[in-house]
Amino acid sequence: MQTQILERMESEVRTYSRSFPTVFTKAKGARLTDEAGREYIDFLAGAGTLNYGHNHPKLQEALVDYITSDGITHGLDMWSHAKRDYLETLEEVILKPRGLDYKVHLPGPTGTNAVEAAIRLARVAKGRHNIVTFTNGFHGVTMGALATTGNRKFREATGGIPTQGASFMPFDGYLGDGNDTLDYFEKLLGDNSGGLDVPAGVIVETVQGEGGINPAGLDWLKRLESICRAHDILLIVDDIQAGCGRTGKFFSFEHAGILPDIVTNSKSLSAYGLPFAHVLMRPELDKWKPGQYNGTFRGFNMAFVTAAAAFKHFWSDDKLERDVQRKGRIVEERFTKIAAWLTERGHEASERGRGLMRGIDVRKGEIADKITAKAFENGLIIETAGHDGQVIKCLCPLVISDEDLLEGLDILERSVEEAIG
Ligand code: PLP
Repeated sequence: MQTQILERMESEVRTYSRSFPTVFTKAKGARLTDEAGREYIDFLAGAGTLNYGHNHPKLQEALVDYITSDGITHGLDMWSHAKRDYLETLEEVILKPRGLDYKVHLPGPTGTNAVEAAIRLARVAKGRHNIVTFTNGFHGVTMGALATTGNRKFREATGGIPTQGASFMPFDGYLGDGNDTLDYFEKLLGDNSGGLDVPAGVIVETVQGEGGINPAGLDWLKRLESICRAHDILLIVDDIQAGCGRTGKFFSFEHAGILPDIVTNSKSLSAYGLPFAHVLMRPELDKWKPGQYNGTFRGFNMAFVTAAAAFKHFWSDDKLERDVQRKGRIVEERFTKIAAWLTERGHEASERGRGLMRGIDVRKGEIADKITAKAFENGLIIETAGHDGQVIKCLCPLVISDEDLLEGLDILERSVEEAIG
């Protein structure tokens, strides 16, 4: 397989091609095929970008029809019928049935663009600079978002420029069992001498993805919401990885019954792997002046088309939600078994997650790497997360067939035995 040009020309910054060093040519559903004709089951799914799998036929049809009918591809942020249909469908299928009333800001197309816009909006709306974020949080790598991201690997790559405007609090569970980490946050807020600048907003992932598949307790999230309300702080839920059905509800915060002031979505929002993001905000927070936050690529018409098609096809009833919860239980059971097998052999491990966002924490990055490398050899694409890459994470497409899901889990189980046994 010819890889010289790829290795020679692409910057050293590349990541996933190091874990999966082959040249992919095709993809359908939960399967990828490489140039040698080898098939792989995909438990990475674009790090949570392909919740509806690769090239879903319904979405592909909508996209092809749009392109061949000379639909608008680029139009800055001018109105198009694709944009109108997207907003209408978002409101009718996603927001209204959940009792949500949000306005939509279309920033640049990546997750970090959405986070930048969300935290900037919070600052503009509240006239305060500080944003509270949590240990192990990952919100992107542009300077504003990076300030709210915990991992040193990313924070050190600024050429010495300090990240600013964010304060870290301990995430749920960070201080061990029996500690409600919000006690600390609440205490600082009530203490004029505690050193915490009252924040404009708090940004949180309800299940931390890159930080190691750490689900926040539902009571913890409820308490976080009430602390924010009591202190006039905006609650921003970063649902870029945990949203779009990944945890078994369209929005991950639905499980806790909380109502964020601002929500960010990207990754699976386009439903087809197209770059796309939006920021949802309570209408009264829309403090932007026309053109004040701009960019050439704001709202991608092709993504409007596939996203609206996905809302109509997958979210008009609760079938997908129920299926995600069912498949989540299958993964949970198998991951628990794998974790027990490892623990019995002296490698302490445990399972955690919500819906189809699940992981096995094997405590050491080097063990997780051995297992995922073996899995790749055996035909499964699966990645790691966490501060040391110590969590093997399953982000398989939500629409994966039971057959592919079970085959993927079998490959993982065998790979653990081969790598560690
Ligand atoms: N926020 C969360 C929760 C994420 O998981 C990610 C990416 O993994 C981002 C923000 C950044 O998104 P992007 O990589 O598209 O900039």
